[in-house]
Amino acid sequence: MNCPKRIAILGSTGSIGTQTLNVVRHHRDRFSVEVLCAGSNAELLINQALEFDPNAVVIADESKYTTVQQALAHTDVKVFAGRQSMVDIMDMSSIDVVVAAIVGFAGLEPTLRAIERGKTIALANKETMVVAGHIVTRAAERHGAAILPVDSEHSAIFQCLMGNAQQKPDKLILTASGGPFRGRTRDDLANVALADALHHPNWSMGRKVTIDSATLMNKGLEVIEAHWLFGVEASHIEVLVHPQSVVHSMVQYADGAILAQLGVPTMETPIMFALSFPDRLPTHLPKLDFATCSQLTFEQPDRQTFRCLDLAYSALARGGNAPCALNAANEVAVQRFIDGRLKFLEIADFVEKVIDRCNFIASPTLLDLIETDKQIRTV
Ligand code: NDP
Repeated sequence: MNCPKRIAILGSTGSIGTQTLNVVRHHRDRFSVEVLCAGSNAELLINQALEFDPNAVVIADESKYTTVQQALAHTDVKVFAGRQSMVDIMDMSSIDVVVAAIVGFAGLEPTLRAIERGKTIALANKETMVVAGHIVTRAAERHGAAILPVDSEHSAIFQCLMGNAQQKPDKLILTASGGPFRGRTRDDLANVALADALHHPNWSMGRKVTIDSATLMNKGLEVIEAHWLFGVEASHIEVLVHPQSVVHSMVQYADGAILAQLGVPTMETPIMFALSFPDRLPTHLPKLDFATCSQLTFEQPDRQTFRCLDLAYSALARGGNAPCALNAANEVAVQRFIDGRLKFLEIADFVEKVIDRCNFIASPTLLDLIETDKQIRTV
């Protein structure tokens, strides 16, 4: 029996973070928790630390340091606070795998540091790839860091590519559930409420990615993520709506053969696969039973109603800092929608307008990207 893999979780208090800890709970012989990092949810971080006994925890919100420190004073857990601590803790040599599960641009710097230290990355934070795909993939190559996708679509594609390294894929087919508003017209969507957008039919996720699913921006970000993860041009990446979320994605080869990966819609399966790769562990979850899944349907996305998908394709085609600008504009727009300052359909309008105003940089450095992100957030 190998030693347990020592895991650091960036974003342990979120949807992916808590599901990762559930995987660890079921496989204590395979995984141990070395570091937990949270944004501001001190209470949950403390409870996680008491249960999983990590070497260290970091809370990004410095005002919560004393609360966490006092609650863990009777333990050996080291407590740190602040954004920079979250980056620096990635230097710990005792970390084997980093689960990158912070939401948004905030995930980029700690993930990049982990890559520069040669850690294996279980990547949920797609924004890291969207914003800085060229920097992240180059750093991973230079430092020998494996990036294993956690996003269910990319995990599926990764699995469909396994054993076919010599075959260039003809097409990656990313499936999309279509979100809560599939089939609705622009008129139907003019005044939808936040609660409706947060009501995803198949997946229980954090607020930002749930709203991104409703606008189809999530699928657009995933197209960019797939481009960088698998080195495939956008013209060979197709999006197909599949409301049942059973076929997690597919790869078509030159001979027309399509390989697909299927399973019940739960993130714990791709999380477990990324953590255990190249092994497959026995699941603690119900398995897919074809006898109870009589219908698998597919349709084209409605690109006129859900304009964010094409905005993402355009940003990828433009390259440079355009995907970074797209991501920042989307983060701002989603927050404004949550705060009631934008209507649902205005999210795409806002993103389009704001990225048009951004200074274009063809070959941005990390500092350029940080500046682009900042510039967009001040509009
Ligand atoms: P959540 O909103 O549920 O969780 C986000 C996590 O990030 C929390 O732990 C939060 O901490 C932390 N966080 C937020 N802002 C900061 C910050 N500025 N600094 C440090 N930590 C911060 O998001 P999800 O788990 O849903 O998503 C995480 C990532 O995974 C996203 O990129 C998403 O697109 C991707 N993903 C998610 C899926 C899902 O099923 N949820 C599926 C596929 C991909 P706190 O709560 O303590 O403030």
